[in-house]
Formats: sequence, C-alpha cells, structure tokens
Amino acid sequence: MQITFLGATETVTGSKFLLTHHGKKILVDCGLFQGYKALRLRNWDKFPVDPAQIDAVILTHAHIDHTGYLPLLVKNGFSGKIHCTHGTKDLCAILLPDSGHIQEEDAKRANKYGYSKHHPALPLYTENEGRQALKQFLPHDFATEYRLFDDLSFRFHHAGHIIGASIVEIKYNSKTLCFTGDLGRPHDHVMNPPDVIHKADYLVIESTYGGRLHDRTDPLKQLEDIIQQTVKRGGSVIIPSFAVGRAQSLLYYIDQLKKADRIPDLPVFLDSPMAINATNLLCHYTNEHRLTKEQCKDLCNVAEYIVTPEQSKSIDQYKVPVIIISASGMATGGRILHHLKLFLRDPRSTILFAGFQAGGTRGDRLLRGETEIKIHGEMIPVRAHIELLTSLSAHADYQEILAWLKKFERPPQKTFIVHGEPESSKNLKRKIEEQLKWSCYLPKYRHVETL
Ligand SMILES: [Zn+2]
Repeated sequence: MQITFLGATETVTGSKFLLTHHGKKILVDCGLFQGYKALRLRNWDKFPVDPAQIDAVILTHAHIDHTGYLPLLVKNGFSGKIHCTHGTKDLCAILLPDSGHIQEEDAKRANKYGYSKHHPALPLYTENEGRQALKQFLPHDFATEYRLFDDLSFRFHHAGHIIGASIVEIKYNSKTLCFTGDLGRPHDHVMNPPDVIHKADYLVIESTYGGRLHDRTDPLKQLEDIIQQTVKRGGSVIIPSFAVGRAQSLLYYIDQLKKADRIPDLPVFLDSPMAINATNLLCHYTNEHRLTKEQCKDLCNVAEYIVTPEQSKSIDQYKVPVIIISASGMATGGRILHHLKLFLRDPRSTILFAGFQAGGTRGDRLLRGETEIKIHGEMIPVRAHIELLTSLSAHADYQEILAWLKKFERPPQKTFIVHGEPESSKNLKRKIEEQLKWSCYLPKYRHVETL
C-alpha cells in the first residue's frame, strides 16, 4: 500500500490522498484548493495521475475542500464510483452544482469587468458538470463494512462535524489505515461527538486547530453580546457562513436567544438557497445530531429564507438593524460579497465571521485588520466592526484532539498530520509527541509513503 499526499499538506484545503494497492488506485477525498493564489492555481494543474486510471473515490464528508474537485475529476475521465455516507451524498447534491455555479458567475463577472488576466476567463467547471458528478455517487450506511476489492474494505464512523461526516477506516492485508476527515467536537450544542476509534496501524489526522484552544465561553453568550452591541449602534450583523453546518448552528443559537429575550426580535435572513436546503436536511438526519424534531422545526422558522438574487439585494435596503446569514463562509465568493460591499462601509454594522478562515481568503485578511479589501475588482474601505465567533467551531481543538487520540489502545505505527496551516500542524505534532510519544509526520505536497 502506498499513499501519495495530493492536498491538505501545509494548508487546510484541497484534501486528496491517493492510495495504490495491488495495482488499484483509490482517492480518499477530492477537495478543491482555496485561499492563497499559489494554492488555487493548483486546481488548474494537470492531475498527477490520469483520472481514468483511478478505480474509486471515498469521501470523508461533503465540504468543498474535500469534494470540490470531483466534477473536474469526472470531466477528465474518472468513471468509477464515489463512495460516501447518505448525508454526504445529499449535501454534495447541494454543494457541487452550486460550486460550479459560483465559478461560472465569477468567470462571467471577470469577463464583464475585465479583471482577469485570462481572455476569456473560464470556470474550472460548470453547474451542470457539478451535477454530472453526482451520478457516480454510491452511498453507504455508517458502521457497515464494504468490500471494495478482494483484499480491501472500508467502513464509515461518525465524525460529528457536519451531517454525513465520517472517519474512514480502510482495511487491507490485515492492517488498518484511518482518515479522521474533519473531526467534530465532544460537546457541541448541535452535532454529536465523534465516534471513538480504538486502533489503527496508520492514522491521517486533521489539524485545523492543532495550534489553538477554542474560547470556552458559551457561544450563546458571545453571539448575544455582539448582536446587542451592534443593535445599540443602530447597525446590522452580517454573518458570512458556511452554508452547511455552521448556518444551521447559527439559526439554532439565534432562535434560542430570541426565545429567552436575550436579543431583540429583529429580522433574520438566511440568504443562501444552499443553506436553506441544508437546513431542511438537518431535520431529515435526526440521528446525527442532538436537536429534537421540535428544535429543528423552530430553527427552520427563525429566519426568512431568501431565494432570488432580487430578494437578496432588497434586504440590504432595510432601515432597521437586521441579521443576514449568507455564504460563503470565508467570503471567497457567493452572495455575501454583495452584502459586504455595502455593509463594510458602515461603521455601525458588524461583519461576524463564524468559522475557520483559511490564509489568504478575504475573511482571513479582514480579521487581520486590512483597511480596504478588493471585491469584484473594486477596493472597498473597511469601516464596520470585524468580529470572529471564537467559541464556535465544527473542528476539535488540540486538547479535544488529544483527548480523542488517548482512547487508542496502542499507538499507530505512523501518524500523518494534515489539513492545517503549517504552524497548527507543527504544534499538534509537538503535543502528540510530548503527551502520547507517538511517531508523527508532516507530509509535504506529493509526498509518497509505503504503508
Ligand atoms: Zn469540513
């Protein structure tokens, strides 16, 4: 068995791990690179192996940095099955066409305003190509072993994180190789904790928050304070949010705050057709989270759903404070950009980031205090308050990761730390080596290892 690290090395994006075993090729995750331009350009490179030669894809979960390259893989000849959980399949049906749509819109806009170096600017793939990839999906239940080839099987365990998210356990030659995917948190208000894994010969673990501890303040309290202060200034709260997972948690918290009279009864808009669909899915997969049917129904009703672009533009015209939740979560694209163009100039309003911001994204740069930011080729001055919900996260921090690892009965032979900015991965390596004495490695892009 050989593993080649084709993404999520020294970055949180582009997750792709190629396994070669007895002549078969399997790709675990097929994510898009996001953030820094040098990374994004990799999406345009020729894929290191001919996609037609890949036998199967296995997905940990639906987020675009784990699935967003699939339409391109299919377009370039991959004809095998894409194995995942039912939740992941349903979420990909929302996310992949949307990802293609955003890229088509970006290319159109770049051509209209002439801010691309390429003439004409082209989308990486289209909405229709995003939809095409869905035909190859084969969903499986959690905890059920599936024999992919004679000498290789896999099984999905719950990872928490988002609906459908899994830890992938692969068995071959009586050995076990385990991918954590994105690991959820033990005490999240909405999602269940990740399943305990007792052993693996090789482990590939994420390190998004390998260098940080989450603020232990109750996220309800933090959200309450930010909304209260903004409303007092007469401003609005604009929340760039991941459409899947984070948007639903935010709706749940806002519903709780309103019910307890901890915030005024101001209008709330969920301006993302994708987030609307993902919210409906949350109500469908009740065994993957902690909310009751009643709580699910209430969070669905706390916001007005904004579907058309015309409605989206009209909500900016409200004369009273409002809360707008819109995608994308790192302000890299989508409808949130239109709201930002307007509200970034308003010193009364708050732009509230609600999740991890990859280096180089607009979200990262705003949180670092940049005083102007480019949107659709135009420089926008930053006058609004910029905040981050530090207590809210769908990823375990290093303490929570270590607690999860401590349940292993014996150390893996090798632990590969991926899916983190370099400092986070290095920090997690140090912590695991100090506290658990495991052998950890930080693979580089295209590194090959025999297992
Ligand atoms: Zn994720």
